[in-house]
Amino acid sequence: MFGAGDVRVVDAPDPTIEQPTDAVLRVAAACVCGSDLHPFHSMPVRERGYPMGHEMIGVVEEIGSDVATVGPGDVVIVPFVWSCGRCDFCLEGLQTSCRFGRQRTGGAQAEYRRAPLADGTLYRLDVDESDERIPGLLTLSDVYGTGYHAALTGGAAPGATVAVIGDGAVGLLAVLSARQLGAERIILMGRHEARTDLGRRYGATDVVAARGDEGIAAVRDLTGGDGAHVVVDAVGHLPAYEQAIGIVRDGGAVSRVGVPQYETGPIGRAQFERNITITGGVAPVRAYIDRLLPGVLDGSVDPGAVFDREVGLEDIPEAYRLMDAREALKVLVRP
Ligand SMILES: [Zn+2]
Ligand SMILES: [Zn+2]
Repeated sequence: MFGAGDVRVVDAPDPTIEQPTDAVLRVAAACVCGSDLHPFHSMPVRERGYPMGHEMIGVVEEIGSDVATVGPGDVVIVPFVWSCGRCDFCLEGLQTSCRFGRQRTGGAQAEYRRAPLADGTLYRLDVDESDERIPGLLTLSDVYGTGYHAALTGGAAPGATVAVIGDGAVGLLAVLSARQLGAERIILMGRHEARTDLGRRYGATDVVAARGDEGIAAVRDLTGGDGAHVVVDAVGHLPAYEQAIGIVRDGGAVSRVGVPQYETGPIGRAQFERNITITGGVAPVRAYIDRLLPGVLDGSVDPGAVFDREVGLEDIPEAYRLMDAREALKVLVRP
């Protein structure tokens, strides 16, 4: 990405092993993320460009001398944050705070990519790269794990009412996750019918198209005036957060997984008096793969249904356009 609205496909040097803990991966499947649209709207011009893409299924090409758990030919899930798998944060299941994880690499919207901390990060699969479940498996590198993180940290559980703001892939997969965690009522807030239909398939019991004060009133109506126990903000803009605060039940939780595009918002006395918890955050998706993978493999869940378009590498600029114009929900990229 060379600036807002400016995505180009360019030739770049092939990545190589730089550290003994690296692997070099060939990209089998990648995609454009809703969070990629934030820089697509606002990134300042960068003359040398910024490599994009953070969700992928890879095939291991080459490994460094210290890598023990994956080898050439292995098909792997590549979570969107690098993690060593051994530090205190990784062992706690908060791989996003890994003490060694902040490493720059090329993007996943590419033919090849270097993966640092291969043993801690990569998750080896027993499937072929042409397997029809690859799109579903790809969601475990970010959006499904992120939706699950939202529902879990928010406290979705049997008996709970969960409201989800946002009908993008993360919002829809938060619906699916809330259903898996046993939530009784799931209110999806979105206005794009094809998406909210998928949300109903994933377990939404109600759909609210209104937003802002009207949306708040609609959810309060549906919940006897009280609001929802758990509200997932899968958008990240301030009005969505304000809406979440407006529809959460006293004692409930607002779980944010849309990357906040604001620095400050309501968190003062009014929220204090209502005992509202603010939770969520960048999702340690590596921690959830063991839990979510079986359902993807046995077909009992279909998170891959969030992909409604597929393009080759050369058409990535078009993929951004389609998602930005909301003509596509999520675009799969196969180099
Ligand atoms: Zn993403
Ligand atoms: Zn770590």
